[in-house]
Amino acid sequence: MTAKALDVERIRNDFPILNRKIHGQPLAYLDNAASSQKPAAVIAAVSGYFLNSHANVHRGAHQLSVEATDAYESARAVVADFIGGRTKELIFTRGTTESINLVANSWGAAHLAEGDEVLLTLMEHHSNLVPWQLVAARAGARLKFVGLTPDGRLDLEDLAAKLGPRTRIVALTHVSNTLGVVNPVAEVARLAHEAGALCLVDGAQAAPHLLVDVVDIGCDFYAFSGHKMCGPTGIGALWGKKELLDAMPPWQGGGEMISEVQLEHSTWAAVPHKFEAGTPSVGDAVGLGAAVRYLSQVGLEAIHSHEIELTEYALERLTELEGFELFGPREDRVGVISFRFGDIHAHDLATILDARGIAIRAGHHCNQPLMRHLGVDATARASLYLYNTRAEIDALVEGLIAAKTLFGGFA
Ligand code: PLP
Repeated sequence: MTAKALDVERIRNDFPILNRKIHGQPLAYLDNAASSQKPAAVIAAVSGYFLNSHANVHRGAHQLSVEATDAYESARAVVADFIGGRTKELIFTRGTTESINLVANSWGAAHLAEGDEVLLTLMEHHSNLVPWQLVAARAGARLKFVGLTPDGRLDLEDLAAKLGPRTRIVALTHVSNTLGVVNPVAEVARLAHEAGALCLVDGAQAAPHLLVDVVDIGCDFYAFSGHKMCGPTGIGALWGKKELLDAMPPWQGGGEMISEVQLEHSTWAAVPHKFEAGTPSVGDAVGLGAAVRYLSQVGLEAIHSHEIELTEYALERLTELEGFELFGPREDRVGVISFRFGDIHAHDLATILDARGIAIRAGHHCNQPLMRHLGVDATARASLYLYNTRAEIDALVEGLIAAKTLFGGFA
């Protein structure tokens, strides 16, 4: 079934910031893998909440507290539904980083013992690496890393070889924030389970762009961030299988997460509240709910097809440029385009493009081990979303040609 085509001009009208001029030039925002822009519907939902319904949640008998609680809990329901999960399995966090820290510190601290293994991959964002380093060091567990194929895909043979009787969890990214490759996470979850391990998927770069169904994937945990999917910063989620979440100890203690508190000990609230200590970021959760409603209304399949078509166009145009080198595979990818351009440093490219109103990112993208593997200290990265256009890709190509001219060609 082909997805309905996006009316990109109409969609662009939903995002007020896209009308901005940067250094006198129209903005071409190609830094979506770092953070997406926000539609007016999300901004209105957040401000509407604070204008009309704000109070602290869950404990209040008064009208505003009831409204705030309803807004917060109905956001939880739509966000859970968006990834095919159940409401009771959806914990609000500050984002992917906090979601993974939650699993590492709660499940990991309870289940990892001396000699156990955590299987990660060479393409993990620091958010899905450093939390495991910390918990593994405390437990005496070992980290192992699945390698990549020469074109930048996950090496499934290596994964099968490294999965062993001591593997307790396989934690991997759904989509690489540098290589743009979509990993076969359902296959990995199946292999992990066959080996008696759990599977955590970092969905930071997938949930905004792909139709995600955690049940179809078959993973145990799925983490994602609101700000990359049209929602506010400071909000994201962890989905986990109910029986695992029920059995896990709390991570942070405080208000909201308890059932009963004595001076010396306490009992815990039911999941998801057990993992939401303190006053939650209610306004941001409302904004994430609105973002998910917005994305669902536009249609994830339509968004994905648009991005695939635009990525194809971008790669066709960019690979025509002498000196352009793509990192990551040509196929099985989304619109995260990391590249090198001759010997012009990525930071110089980003600065030159910025002067033309084009926002790309340059750096290690929180992928330092991957950069070392690729033999570079940084890449330039253009990353696409539903509001990007062919004209913006053309501007990027012209900007790169201008950069080359400015540098007097390549050495
Ligand atoms: N994982 C991946 C693959 C990412 O791309 C990012 C952000 O760039 C993160 C995790 C961390 O997300 P956040 O900073 O929103 O917690």
